[in-house]
Amino acid sequence: MLNNQLVLEINNVKKYYNSFLALNNISFRIKSGELVVLLGPNGAGKSTLFSIITGLVRADSGSCFINGCNIADNSIGALENLGVVFQQSTIDLELTVKENLLFHSRLYGIEINSVEKVIEEELTKSGLVKKVSKKVRTLSGGERRKVELIRSLLHKPKMLLMDEPTVGLDPASRISLLKKIQNLKNKGTLSILWTTHLVDEAEKADKIIILNKGKIIAIGSSSEILGLAKENNLAKAFLKLVKEK
Ligand code: ADP
Ligand code: MG
Repeated sequence: MLNNQLVLEINNVKKYYNSFLALNNISFRIKSGELVVLLGPNGAGKSTLFSIITGLVRADSGSCFINGCNIADNSIGALENLGVVFQQSTIDLELTVKENLLFHSRLYGIEINSVEKVIEEELTKSGLVKKVSKKVRTLSGGERRKVELIRSLLHKPKMLLMDEPTVGLDPASRISLLKKIQNLKNKGTLSILWTTHLVDEAEKADKIIILNKGKIIAIGSSSEILGLAKENNLAKAFLKLVKEK
């Protein structure tokens, strides 16, 4: 069930790299339980927007609120509600799966006894429980991504961000990760924003935001985007909209 609570609010965000305008007046909102895909070609500005939402980079103007907390002046309040899987893997290859997950739990001040059970349950659901004591270096790309996803949710955030999580995965791992994301959405209140340049990954989203050259060129459900582009296939609609703007 969706409720109307806003979990992410981006207002008129602009970001320059020297004189290059990487994000041009970006505004959108995500409600509790919404699954939103930020779809855009390489260089559109997706990772730049993630850096702003996570507080790694400051916007030159505009604002970004996570669960009502402004990332620019209350980053602790904002980040405690955010789970993040970055485009580049940030997991320690020389630690075991469990060591990585426990270290992250300690950083967030999570009670270790209770989290050990959650870790085991989540690894079991992902078919990874046998790998719990293996160094991450021995895992496949898809398995590492799943561990990163489990890690991002240990502190029970309201919002999950994933930046191109399927890049570099083989087709079976990609499908498995997409299923996992869909299951998370079906559980109810977690809001998810994930970026991709692959149109087929956007089809099941509640809302698609198309970003091109730093600008939002369309926002809507899959059928709304088809209507806007006057096309009957999302891939064609995407190409048409990106070409037109
Ligand atoms: P995406 O994630 O959609 O591929 P990025 O946000 O990585 O796009 O990049 C958007 C644009 O900003 C690109 O043209 C890229 O070259 C440029 N860019 C990204 N980071 C920097 C940086 N640190 N300095 C200068 N230009 C950058
Ligand atoms: Mg990127």
